[in-house]
Amino acid sequence: HLKELEGLKDLDAITLDGHKVELVGNIGEPGDVIGVLKNGGVGVGLYRTEFLYMNSETMPGEDKQLAAYRSVLEAFPDGPVIIRTLDIGGDKKLPYLPMDDELNPFLGLRAIRLCFKEVALFKIQLRAILRASVYGHAHIMFPMVSSVTEVRQAKVILKECMKELEESGIPYDKDVKVGVMIEIPSAAITADIIAKEVDFFSIGTNDLCQYTMAVDRMNQEVSYLYDPFNPAILRLVKQVIQASNNAPGLFTGMCGEMSGDPIAAIILLGLGLDEFSMSAIAIPQIKKIIRSVRYEDARVIANEALNLETGEAVVDHVLESMKKLK
Ligand code: PEP
Ligand code: MG
Repeated sequence: HLKELEGLKDLDAITLDGHKVELVGNIGEPGDVIGVLKNGGVGVGLYRTEFLYMNSETMPGEDKQLAAYRSVLEAFPDGPVIIRTLDIGGDKKLPYLPMDDELNPFLGLRAIRLCFKEVALFKIQLRAILRASVYGHAHIMFPMVSSVTEVRQAKVILKECMKELEESGIPYDKDVKVGVMIEIPSAAITADIIAKEVDFFSIGTNDLCQYTMAVDRMNQEVSYLYDPFNPAILRLVKQVIQASNNAPGLFTGMCGEMSGDPIAAIILLGLGLDEFSMSAIAIPQIKKIIRSVRYEDARVIANEALNLETGEAVVDHVLESMKKLK
């Protein structure tokens, strides 16, 4: 069985009827690219850069960041590398960045919100990513976006960084792709508006589930409510993919845990997701599933799933449908 999965490494993630998607890896630090390459991931769909900050005693400077981003980009000469800007706050703190205690940290000064408050810190990271962009196919992704206003605000700051680099004669990729995570319900609901400002979306189901169901993703007491198959989540995911399909040139990926789930993979494939980003070890299994179905069948299964009333019914439906196809 393991041998079989290994044999898939260099094959495309393509359905029986020729619909191709992209399987990429989630990484926390540059060394993680080894696992992604070994498992046949064609790039990185989520580089959680907060670990670079968290594993450091002091604020990592521009050159240190540049070196990390460059090494990841160089590992994938042909594939995309989506670098997510700092997602700190919530449960993640930095020893060298004093932050006030908050009553609801996950609803507070987290990720892009913190970066707007600490613009100097934000700009160091953006400059480092821009400088690294000449070494590969860099994509910049903003986390925890709740409205188009924040997207525009982030892009203004990015433009400032580009201008600074230009004035200093430092090269960067002028076509660097800019996208956002869709992980807050308000962003999913207004995806059609946000689509006009970006090159790509990546759906973060870990937080999307938490914020849609009002369930702390870390609290075992309420984890029974945490269900990515819940119709509320599926409808939002569908809405985001549709908004993306209606916007020319935009692509939609998913980097939440859901994209590495075999049952979810059928639904996401059928809904038209372009890119699946997951822990490296999940890639071969998801590739095997994608290569074993017809896109047309996945579309039917996904549409039927969207008419069901509960997450359990959705899971049962996918399992039954897959059995019938065999
Ligand atoms: C998500 O929220 O789905 C996600 C991928 O980001 P993180 O798990 O890092 O919050
Ligand atoms: Mg998240």
